[in-house]
Order: sequence, then C-alpha cells, then structure tokens
Amino acid sequence: MRRSLIRHALFDFPPYCPGLSIEEIQVRYGLSSVIKLASNENPLGVSPKVLQVLEKHLPEVHRYPRAGSPRLRQALGAYHGVPEDRIVAGNGSDEIIDLLIRMAVEPGRDHVLAFQPSFDIYRLQSQLCGVAFRQIALRCDFTFPMQELLAAVNDTTAMVFLTTPDNPSGYAPPVEAVLELHRRLPEDCLLVVDEAYMDFAVPQERYSVLSLAGNVPNLVVLRTFSKLYGLAGLRLGYGVMSAELADCLLRVKLPFSVNLLAEAAGIAALDDEAFRSETIRTVVQGRERLTVALGEMGFLVYTSQANFILVKPPLGAPELFEKLLSRGIIIRPLASYGLPDLLRISIGNAEENQALLRAIRVILEP
Ligand SMILES: *Cc1c(COP(=O)(O)O)cnc(C)c1O
Repeated sequence: MRRSLIRHALFDFPPYCPGLSIEEIQVRYGLSSVIKLASNENPLGVSPKVLQVLEKHLPEVHRYPRAGSPRLRQALGAYHGVPEDRIVAGNGSDEIIDLLIRMAVEPGRDHVLAFQPSFDIYRLQSQLCGVAFRQIALRCDFTFPMQELLAAVNDTTAMVFLTTPDNPSGYAPPVEAVLELHRRLPEDCLLVVDEAYMDFAVPQERYSVLSLAGNVPNLVVLRTFSKLYGLAGLRLGYGVMSAELADCLLRVKLPFSVNLLAEAAGIAALDDEAFRSETIRTVVQGRERLTVALGEMGFLVYTSQANFILVKPPLGAPELFEKLLSRGIIIRPLASYGLPDLLRISIGNAEENQALLRAIRVILEP
C-alpha cells in the first residue's frame, strides 16, 4: 500500500464533540448574556485564592515547571492520604487516559473495553493508538450490567474503563460492585475507574474506590480539577495507581505537560476547603431542586451523583435544545453519545437554575 501523509486508520477520525461555547451563541443570536450548562463546569467559577496564587506566579512563566509536578504530587498525596509515588498529574485527566492506553495496551493485539455509551475520549485515544475499542451496552436505566462486561473479557482485554459517577447518566454503582468487578478481572487486565465526578457523590465513601488504588497492581483511579475546582481551562487531572505504574507513566509522559500555572493553581485549590464545600453544597442543592422541578414539569430525570442530570423532556430533545439556545441557555444534546432523545444539563448556580426553569416553563406553555 502506498504511504500517505496521514495513517490510513486516521482518515475518518471523528473529532471530539464538545459543548457549545458562550461566545458562539452570543454571536449567533446577538445575545449579551448567555448561560452555559453544557460542560459540567463549576457554577461558582474558580476560587479567589487560586486567582491570587495565579497572579503571584504569572511573572514566572518564562521558567519551565519542574518535571513531574513534585509539589502537586506531594499536596495530592497529603490530601488523599496516599503516598505521593502513587500519583501522576497530567494535562487534564484526558492526558492520563491517553498515556495509560499507550502504556498498557499492545496495538494490533489487545483491546480496550468499556460500556456504551461512555466518555468519547476512551474510544478516540484507543483509535489513535491503533487499539480496538469494544463496548457493552448499559441497561436501559443506565445501570451497569457487570456480568455482561465480565463475560466479554478475554485474554486480549488489556484495559477496562469504568466511569463512576457515569457520564452522561450520573449513575454510580456501590463500591462493592466495583470491587467485585475488580476481583473478577484477570490480573493482567487494568481496571481504570474514572472518578471525574466523584466529588459530587453523597456520601462519597459509598461509591469511591480511590483508597484502594495503589494497593493493588491493576487498578487506576482518575480524578480531575476541571469540575469541582473550576480549573477546566487550565487543564489539570491526575491518576492514583501502584508505584510501578506511576513510575512508568512519569517516564513516558512529556515532562512539562502540566504547566507552571496549573501546578500552582492545583496546590492552592486543594488548600481552599471553603470553596470546595461551597461548590458541593451548591451542586447538591441545585441537583435536588432541578430534579424535583423538572419532574413536576413532566421530564423523566435520572438519579444523579454528579454535577449534571440526564433528562428526557416531555417534548422533542432537539426542539427543546434549540429553543433554549435561542434564549441564551446552552445545554448538552447527546446525539454524539447515541442518545438523541435525551439531554444533559449541568447544575448551575441558583440564578442559572432559576433562569433555566423559567425558560422551560415558557417553552412548555401551550
Ligand atoms: C470531564 C471528564 C473528565 C475530565 O477531563 P479533564 O481532561 O480532566 O478536563 C474525565 N472523564 C470524564 C468522564 C469526564 O466527563
């Protein structure tokens, strides 16, 4: 076969489908203010203490950061009560996902397994690495058919991704179910538990397996600063894993992928307990209010442990999405997840949630 400038496998590579941006919608509809409830960002913005620290470090940006973000790893270790040699920080948890696949999965032989639908980055990075990606359908109510997942595991299953709380449903299995899955997987299969939204689960101990990561060789838990800490734009995430896996990840990772400002912001964010608890309070309260109010308006609302809710509206999902958009409210359509009848709504602050409910009430009026 003749060589082309691009690998054949990437000719029809689909791009990641992100939420619409505020600027796009301002321009399209000539609106001065737009509410974005589409990408599960922090409804309170970012901690003022983090902003202060960022300002302080701005004059240092001509310097390279320290390779491997040692100060941040130390702070994360202390925060989680985990030895720091079990922690790897990345340019968003997206980078850790990408590196884990490249590190653990043999292209052309092994495959990655996940539920369907799932976070698209797992599939995209697998495909980029020339690794087969297989999926097992979730149940209709978005709970996890663990037996079916296990039945699909064979000796070429190098990695299993599990998202909990799940995106886009918000469902979280009890910790025993995740541990049982881990116990029944072969030792040479890596279980990657993506806990991007775990900070919003109540109570967290019922759902998180983070405390176990690092004690067993084939379990990785991923967390991010993008959601709870409001640092999505700075790009910062991390994985907790065995010291052996962490050591390898650090060797293959580009040394400066976590930039100097992101590392400083991460350390300051961990230190701001008040902002963290205020965010959780806002999200949990908003989640309850939206769940009740939308339920009363005829929506089917799935129980969520995350900072968003999955809903089936009493009118067509594309129609509601477009009508909200023209009123300056962006939510997330889910056609790219294969769920065209459903919508995902990020929990906003109290005002944003009220504005959303008002707009929906007007749209639903006969
Ligand atoms: C938002 C999200 C992440 C976090 O991505 P970052 O790269 O850390 O911003 C990871 N996994 C899932 C399922 C997510 O929804």
